[in-house]
Amino acid sequence: MSKDEELEIHSEDNENDDYENICYVCRRPESVAGKMVQVAPGLMICPDCMQKTFDSVSNMGFSMNDLNSMMGAPQTNSEDDEDKQDNNNHIPNISFLNLSDLTGFGVPNSQRLKKKKKKKDGEKKEAPVIDIKNIPPPHEIKARLDEHVVGQEYAKKVMSVAVYNHYKRVSQMDNLLDDDGVEIEKSNMLMIGPTGSGKTYMVKTLARLLDVPLAITDATSLTEAGYIGDDIESVVSKLLAAADNDVERAEKGIIFIDEIDKLAKKKNTNQRDVSGESVQQGMLKLLEGAEVEVPVGASSKNAMVPMTTIDTGNILFICGGAFPDLADIIKERLNKASSMGFVADLKDKYDKEENILSKVTVEDLRKFGMIPEFIGRLPIIYSLEALSEDMFVRILTEPKNAITKQYQKLLSFDEVKLEFEEGALRAIAKKAKEKELGARALRSIIEEFMLDIMYEIPKDDNIGTVVITEEYVEKKGGPKIIPRDHSITAKKEVAEN
Ligand code: ADP
Repeated sequence: MSKDEELEIHSEDNENDDYENICYVCRRPESVAGKMVQVAPGLMICPDCMQKTFDSVSNMGFSMNDLNSMMGAPQTNSEDDEDKQDNNNHIPNISFLNLSDLTGFGVPNSQRLKKKKKKKDGEKKEAPVIDIKNIPPPHEIKARLDEHVVGQEYAKKVMSVAVYNHYKRVSQMDNLLDDDGVEIEKSNMLMIGPTGSGKTYMVKTLARLLDVPLAITDATSLTEAGYIGDDIESVVSKLLAAADNDVERAEKGIIFIDEIDKLAKKKNTNQRDVSGESVQQGMLKLLEGAEVEVPVGASSKNAMVPMTTIDTGNILFICGGAFPDLADIIKERLNKASSMGFVADLKDKYDKEENILSKVTVEDLRKFGMIPEFIGRLPIIYSLEALSEDMFVRILTEPKNAITKQYQKLLSFDEVKLEFEEGALRAIAKKAKEKELGARALRSIIEEFMLDIMYEIPKDDNIGTVVITEEYVEKKGGPKIIPRDHSITAKKEVAEN
């Protein structure tokens, strides 16, 4: 068996076959550096580094024989002990590394690139709900979103159209569609909405439906390169990790940057703003599309981490934030405009207006502290509504994996039915509204009163149904417990036997 064949077999046995080999010396992957040479199990060296090793050894002026003797291998022509002593004297204080000792120091998978998969015949991949290569029209995308996200009709509509256009553009770039020279611009988005209104949830749902990798980052953790904090490019690194180190998949993914409002220019400061305005500046080229070199399997660049290049041209960027004082800026602008001229209106006409955020303009965002170049690269700007009590009730019951459905499922494993009275749902919604945390509050409220139920129910086999009442939610009474109908269970058992 030739040496090549042997290597081939070894790599096929390898359980990590999905990952590319990486040169132990220069850390480049096989797709870049060329076919690796295995010097010890799990230890690969690329041809360049191998050549460099040979070159430097021959430049030192000693032969392969000397090298063998250093590594403890028997010499080809027999020489006496005195000669050996002499050989060692050529290079005082230098001892050669025995490469086999390094076994086990291989590169972890988190730092390796995934090999491009060869499709095996007959192997079927689970089809994504929405195929980005054959993207369905916006109304169908919205219909899918409707199954999970309650309300936010406008936001869902905008997102569906933007995603539709984005992946059409990606197809054009991949030459899957006719190219007549008209270049479609990127449709990055800026989402404005109060906390807990479903910003992250909508992006997550969309990414899942499209089956594209998604990286979620907090803008507050980012700083200008060279300062403490994550580099801006680390967001691309995260996406690569979400794509299982598959560059091709990562380049079609979505990056969601939350809390983008925290990057606003600080007012009245002369200091360098390394985590605010500078990050906005630094993100410009990413948003527009650039080739960035990112570390594989780490968020910061260093000599020990392999690097790869990612083109952000087809990555969809979605930024989101609550923009707390933006409402005042919009109100001020609107009030000023309406209280001037012949058709002057009341000065405080817009003060009580709900969903004032939907009237946002680029000028308002600039006033808030976002730099014009940054906003310019997020052409699709839309807002989410603050959730009402009615919407909370719907969120509790309607989505495919609504919280109440999750609890019903959990209890069904104990063969217990769980029901919620209408009044109970209203009471939960009312409590959540008071907390002003958006839909996030719902879970903590339910969690609180479900604890006792989840603890007590498995104790008692006689419980058939539990009904959550308004009194129970408001801590004025208990839930309704309906015992199991044993005649039905007995019949079922007989039927099963
Ligand atoms: P934020 O706007 O602060 O990013 P999230 O998206 O994290 O808020 O929302 C928190 C949780 O609230 C989500 O995990 C989701 O379960 C629920 N939620 C929020 N809005 C909706 C909605 N419109 N429909 C269904 N669930 C929602």
